[in-house]
Formats: sequence, structure tokens, C-alpha cells
Amino acid sequence: MSFPLHRNPPFRAEHLGSLKRPQYLLDARYKNAEPLSSLKPLEDKAITDIVQTQVSLGFRGISDGEYRRHMFWGTFFPSLLGMKEVQNPPFETFRTYVPDIAAFMETGHKPGESVYCVGKIQHTGQSTYIDQFEFLKTLVSKERWGEIKLTLAAPNWYHLRYVDGKAYPKDVYQNDRAYFGDVAKAYQVELDILYKAGLRNVQFDDPNLACEYQRQIVPCLPAPEDEYFCSEKMREGWKNDKNNTVTVDELFDMYIDLYNDCISKIPADMHIGVHLCRGNFVNSRHFSEGGYDAIATRLFTRLNVHTYYLEYDTPRAGGFEPLSSLPANKNVILGVITSKFPELEDKEEMKARIYQAADIVAKGAGESREQALKRMGVSPQCGFASHAEGNLIDIEGMKRKLRLVREIADEVWPGEP
Ligand SMILES: [Zn+2]
Repeated sequence: MSFPLHRNPPFRAEHLGSLKRPQYLLDARYKNAEPLSSLKPLEDKAITDIVQTQVSLGFRGISDGEYRRHMFWGTFFPSLLGMKEVQNPPFETFRTYVPDIAAFMETGHKPGESVYCVGKIQHTGQSTYIDQFEFLKTLVSKERWGEIKLTLAAPNWYHLRYVDGKAYPKDVYQNDRAYFGDVAKAYQVELDILYKAGLRNVQFDDPNLACEYQRQIVPCLPAPEDEYFCSEKMREGWKNDKNNTVTVDELFDMYIDLYNDCISKIPADMHIGVHLCRGNFVNSRHFSEGGYDAIATRLFTRLNVHTYYLEYDTPRAGGFEPLSSLPANKNVILGVITSKFPELEDKEEMKARIYQAADIVAKGAGESREQALKRMGVSPQCGFASHAEGNLIDIEGMKRKLRLVREIADEVWPGEP
């Protein structure tokens, strides 16, 4: 599928959707466990404030900060027919080498709940995201509804984590392809509902595609010694797991097909982006070592999204080489500003990195730097609060980061949204 370049969205200055929540909201929800009836007005107020903040900082792809969610992926999967949320899920069902599960284990924890397929998957026809979008519509003018950003769970989220054969009952789905087929149908329904309500700006959040250490699940976790280690562990673990019936590369291709199926029915004016975290497939030195080049190419050429929101906050020089395979009809938003710590990046250094990346994008597509920059933007590398508690940065620190993102965008792309 080839589609024209989509612009505005994405904007030159972007953020990834989740924002730090005010303390009163966290207290109400967690400390006081207030019922929805009293929590809802507090959420409404906090969202109204954070939308105002985003507007005044000059952001156009505004979100509700994911303030109504506990975790970044929201409530899509447990709301589907055939999916069931399980408390204290049996540990032997997990692939312990998959980064987000490994992160739990390394802190001596295990997932307190998880969602399993227990029957044929079907969308109920009721969206659990739509109220979040509808409320945002009340806060911005109608001409701006199409700019509102809604983040969605990755369609592979409750597949990768489970040992082969544990993601779904074999008498319901004979194989992964059959299971993915129904997951994709559910997403098609969801996207159709949201489109009809006016949504035009979608961002899938996918730490799995990046296959890396998912620190935002356990935000207090220290940075891994070697950020590639865990994904090596993932690939090693995968190889050693005798239950697996496909290679990790075959799985990667199946996930791309799954995405493409999920978004196969969207109208041309709906913008689809995907945010990859801890981009091992993206940021890794392995990319330049032969075998992984093929993965970059597949990620950028086979996945039918308009925009990639990529994480590039590591101090390591380079890492942009895979962008040479970004096709000329796709955008990339460079997450060069960290959302994990309050220390502010040097603006000139960040601009230099953007130009460096632009030159690689340009060379790959046979464009000038100016042409390449037209399909690029800047953002923090991840959300500020993938989990409700959020990162080790306060609201003021977050605003300084967002202001820096806006300033960089204004200097690299003067006069653009
Ligand atoms: Zn992220």
C-alpha cells in the first residue's frame, strides 16, 4: 500500500500522549480509592487544565494526558468479548525473557493482572476510548478536533508476553494467524467508531515492536547497564524456548501484518502513527551490523503507518542510520528529549542531532535536507507517565521539557505548527 505523505498531524512539535498527573488526582484514585462518581469531576478538571497547558505551550496534537487510564494501553483488550482480565495470572504462562515481563521479574515482582483470550474475540460495538475523545472535543474548537491525539494499545500486547499456546485456547484459534485475524477485526471496529466520532490522529504505543527493556512499566527501575543486553536476552530466550514454533523474525513479520490488517480499513484522512520505545530495532548498534538492517527496512517499508515516533534520547552518537530506509511518503518524529529526567538537554546539540538525522533521511530518499525536514518533527522520547505515577520529573519539569521541544521546533521549522 502506498499513500501520500500525511502532514499536520504529525506536527513539528509533538509529545507522546501521557503527561504527569497532578497529585490530587493520584491521591483521589489510589490513596483514597474514590468512586468514579467523585473521581470523574476531578479528572475533568485536571484534563481541562492540562489541555490548556498544552495549548499555551504551542502543541497541536493535544491529548488528555491519559489521565483517565491506569496504564498507557487503557482498557481496550479487557473490554473485548473473548478476552478476560485475570488477577494473579499463572506465572508459567509468561515468556520470562520478553522485556516487559523480565522487567517485573528483575524487581522481584510479577504481573498482578493480565488479559487472556478465553473465547472468540469480538468487539462489543462500544468503544472504551471514546469518552476520552468526546471530552477532549468539548475543550477545543471544532476545527481542531482532527488534531486531537488518541493513543491506542499495541495489537500484539497480549500475545508476545505469553508462552506459545497460552495466549489463546487452541480450540478457539488453531494458530496465531487466526487469533490475529480477530484481533485485527476488533481494531477495525474500534477505529471505525472513533473515526465516526471525528478522531483523525491515532498513535499506537508499542514497546513490543521495539523489543526492548520496558522501563516505563516499572518507572523507578534503574537504567540497564547495557541497553542492548535485554533484547539480546530476548532473542536468546526466544531461541532457547522450545515451545516457540516461529523465529523471532517471523514473529516480527506477523506483527507487521497484524498492524496492517488493523488499519487496512481506515479512510485516507485518518493519520496513523506508531511509537516504538527503547528502540532496539531502531536505535541499536546492531542495526548497522548486517542482520538487523533487514529489520529496519521491514519496519519502515512494510508497516503501513504514516508516522514513526522514535526514541532517540541516548547520549550515544549516531543511531540514525536506519532512517536511511524511511520511504519518502512517511514521517519520523525524533524523540531526542528525555522524559525520564528533569535535566534539560542542550538546545543547540539537539538541533544538531535533528540535522544529522535529516541528512540521513535525505540521503536514503534522494532528497535535500530541507525536503527531508518537511517530514520530520521533534518530541520527548516517550510519555511522561506511561504508568499513572509517572516518571521522576515533576509537572514543572515536564513543562520545561515541552517548552524546549517547542523552541527546538520553532528554530528548526520556523512558523510551523
Ligand atoms: Zn514510549
